[in-house]
Amino acid sequence: MTTSEETILSVAIPSPLRRMFDYLPPAECHDTLESGMRVQVTFGRRKVTGIIEAIKYETDCPREKLKSADNLLEPYQLLPDDIMKLCRWAASYYHYSLGETFSQALPKALRQGKPASQGSVTSWRCIVELDTVLKASLKRARKQLAAMEWLQLYPEGVSEPELKEAGFSKSILSQLEKKRLIQSQQVEITDRPFYELKNKIRQSHLKLNEEQQFALNEINETPTFNSVLLDGITGSGKTEVYLQAIAKTLEAGKQALVLVPEIGLTPQTVRRFRSRFGVPVACLHSGLSDSERLQGWLAASRENAGVLIATRSGIFTPLPKLGLIIVDEEHDNSYKQQDTLRYNARDLAIYRAKLANCPVILGSATPSLETLSNAQSGKYLHLKLRQRAGNAKPPAIELLDLRQQALQEGFAHTLIEQMQTTLLRDEQVMVFLNRRGYAPSLICNDCGEISDCPHCDAHLTLHRQPAHMHCHHCDYQMAIPWTCSNCNGRKLQPSGQGTERCEQTLEQLFPDFPVIRIDRDSTRKKNALHEILEVINEGEPSILLGTQMLAKGHHFPNVTLVAILNADSGLFSSDFRGLEKTGQLIMQVSGRAGRGDKPGKVLIQTYNPQNPSLQLLASNNYPKFAASLFNERQQLNLPPVGYLALFRAESATAAEGINLLKLLRSTAEPFQQQFSSVRALGPLPAPMEKRQGRYRYQLMIHSLRRSDLHRLLSVLIQQLDSVKLPRTLRWNLDVDPQDMT
Ligand code: ADP
Ligand code: ZN
Repeated sequence: MTTSEETILSVAIPSPLRRMFDYLPPAECHDTLESGMRVQVTFGRRKVTGIIEAIKYETDCPREKLKSADNLLEPYQLLPDDIMKLCRWAASYYHYSLGETFSQALPKALRQGKPASQGSVTSWRCIVELDTVLKASLKRARKQLAAMEWLQLYPEGVSEPELKEAGFSKSILSQLEKKRLIQSQQVEITDRPFYELKNKIRQSHLKLNEEQQFALNEINETPTFNSVLLDGITGSGKTEVYLQAIAKTLEAGKQALVLVPEIGLTPQTVRRFRSRFGVPVACLHSGLSDSERLQGWLAASRENAGVLIATRSGIFTPLPKLGLIIVDEEHDNSYKQQDTLRYNARDLAIYRAKLANCPVILGSATPSLETLSNAQSGKYLHLKLRQRAGNAKPPAIELLDLRQQALQEGFAHTLIEQMQTTLLRDEQVMVFLNRRGYAPSLICNDCGEISDCPHCDAHLTLHRQPAHMHCHHCDYQMAIPWTCSNCNGRKLQPSGQGTERCEQTLEQLFPDFPVIRIDRDSTRKKNALHEILEVINEGEPSILLGTQMLAKGHHFPNVTLVAILNADSGLFSSDFRGLEKTGQLIMQVSGRAGRGDKPGKVLIQTYNPQNPSLQLLASNNYPKFAASLFNERQQLNLPPVGYLALFRAESATAAEGINLLKLLRSTAEPFQQQFSSVRALGPLPAPMEKRQGRYRYQLMIHSLRRSDLHRLLSVLIQQLDSVKLPRTLRWNLDVDPQDMT
């Protein structure tokens, strides 16, 4: 070991290797070096951006062999201490490389070594007043009028990215500019802290009902670390409670972080927040460009933004004045990252709140069993909202028995009738079908052969717009076959219902009403979803047909009838979480009905009307449904009662993956004898054994104690780091897996 008085940098590098690398400070660097700073270093033959993890004075490596870092990217900590701690915790909990974890915590531009500078932005403002004459002249240009109304609220101007988030595209702005109604200018992005702004709250809030007020008081009571489950039925006014809690936080000079599901960040939500608060509200989500993401990240970390609304990865954004974290729809799957660092942002939110010593609110109408059990054990404060806010009433849910009924392309007669009456009352109907494409399979009428993906253990989905066969697992595509590959027969028939086919049926059944389809295919174009949502919000009688994209978070006041075409597919899933997910989805979809002043109704088509779970859901009793699931989990020691981790192996031949997992299992054996609460199960084939031409196997680690589980995982990871793997073999570890595929 060499000892030297001189500084050595322990640098975290974005590489799968689970260790730090030592470098000397950059030549001629006179800044004081600290952990959390970004440095550019040469790593092998690559130039990479690393984070100084620690400053030290000793190294195992001969000093003369150490390279100097190439340069320091900025003379201050880019990742503050709390984010460094959060990353260290995540890397250790998920047994992942710390260097990669830091890298994920940064927006892409910073990861790539670009400067952390704010620069300038295009800002738009009105140059004429929006009087009645002008309003009348814009009546036909609905969007232009809406943009004018929005801009009137901000005489100082609104930046172009913010306008985009509020749903106003560049072309709307150009049209208004041509009419000489608005003007743009380049402005330096201000570096003014939000807490110096005078009017932090712009709009007065709603008067809360009793339950909401009680919840808000409880939340405000403890401004220190405190986990709260806000368990409120759909439409109970959770968002209003968040907004008022945030107002209080801003008034105290603190920042709020709001996490939302992947597709929950609609222009509607953004507008609701921006119109309420006078401080900048930054957004971070996948629809932004790299430079927009950088701007949002910087606005939050430099205290220019008072509120940050973000999807999953926003949990890693520095907020020096953090005073409140909200995780909306905490049960949502999108909080769990399904590749690389497989973290759950909801769980990290709890740890982050602890670091910031601030409250964290987990909100949901259908809380996950994990969160419910924490609330029941008293670890979280359990606040309930059981009534809908305003005049809205919970929807009436009815199970529609499909047995011995003649269906018209998947629709029961009663359903068609009720849709008709709803539409004739000038109201909207929502039809939910969780399958995109035309039909989930193409089947040969002569021999029964089904067209399969050549690379996966899966059927090919038939699409008509445009016409092709598509594998939803590996993206393989081919032309629609004319003849059966097995018997050369010509009677190939679509089997089952997808949204495209359902759209066709609905257009035939209801020729007088528009059918608006919302799925991944119909919303592929940029802004398509936003435009569709605007049309729906106009409230004209129409049929909204969609997949789960339609289920979450939206507030469509004129939807009074919701139909779930097929509830059965989710009732008998092989995944132990399948029923929980199905129940949550059914409750969320049902929650779209009757959110305005008119009462709502939900019809669920099923061949299993006696199914006890379905009956509990139909009686609008999610708490009881969750309790019955919890009972089952208890008997089997499954999460949240026990703890799970999943090793997955994927390789060109089945044997390679199986052998690796067998090696892990035998490594685990002596450990199991010592710690009896732990068991390694497998290797077993994954539910889809072959995917994209690769064979997939799993080894499940189960434990009654979290600490034992992690102890074993450390041992197994060490083992994996020390063996030489076949070239095509890949493995990953998923701690607290959400999806067992
Ligand atoms: P959730 O987030 O629980 O689904 P929201 O906060 O979106 O519910 O509220 C649903 C609707 O009820 C919204 O239109 C909202 O403006 C309205 N609302 C919420 N709280 C109140 C209240 N106290 N009084 C009147 N209307 C309310
Ligand atoms: Zn495939």
